[in-house]
Amino acid sequence: MEERPSMLDVTQLSDDSVQTYADVVARTAEAMARPDLELAAALLSPFAGERWNGTLRLFTGSRAPSGERVSRRVPDPTRARVFMRDRFRCTYCGGRVVPRCILVAMSDVFPDALAYHPNYARGRIHPVYWALAPEADHVLAHRGGGTSTEDNLTTLHTMCNARKADAPRDALPAPDRILDAEPWDGLVSLYRRVVAAGEGSARHHSAAYHLAWMRHLEV
Ligand SMILES: [Zn+2]
Repeated sequence: MEERPSMLDVTQLSDDSVQTYADVVARTAEAMARPDLELAAALLSPFAGERWNGTLRLFTGSRAPSGERVSRRVPDPTRARVFMRDRFRCTYCGGRVVPRCILVAMSDVFPDALAYHPNYARGRIHPVYWALAPEADHVLAHRGGGTSTEDNLTTLHTMCNARKADAPRDALPAPDRILDAEPWDGLVSLYRRVVAAGEGSARHHSAAYHLAWMRHLEV
């Protein structure tokens, strides 16, 4: 079947979309935590059903100087510590991030309104995953010999990780700008209750996945 763009296809994301999505996701998660799923669905409705159909691609690996493909995979507990240290802010744009596990817990309850695909397949995932979910990115590139320890990792939105690939390092915002930003906990304080709201729904991930991430995020 031929792919045709629909009204709900999203192909561009800006810093503004980070703000907009973060506001909507925060209010929706609060409603889910009550739990008031009817209110949550209403809050989500302006963005319900959107699908990412842009050109961003997930980085899943890189090439070593030898040309050999190497994994850039950072262990989950390390990623969680990096996000907490950076106070759930993207160090590229300064915007709020929401750990992917929390967005997944919301997609468990609203699988069509907030579609999730583990490989971020085009047309099958809500753009909120690109806009808000963070990556733990290597400051000194892995292929340049950088290690996967916390001091060589920084929090970046998935989309900013893709955007900054060619940007010079001095394009990064000053750390002060990030530290001065209003407090934000990445919605981790709501995570446990959001997962509880999805009890009985068909989950993308097992309960064990969420339990592990709750432990990593210390909630
Ligand atoms: Zn960002």
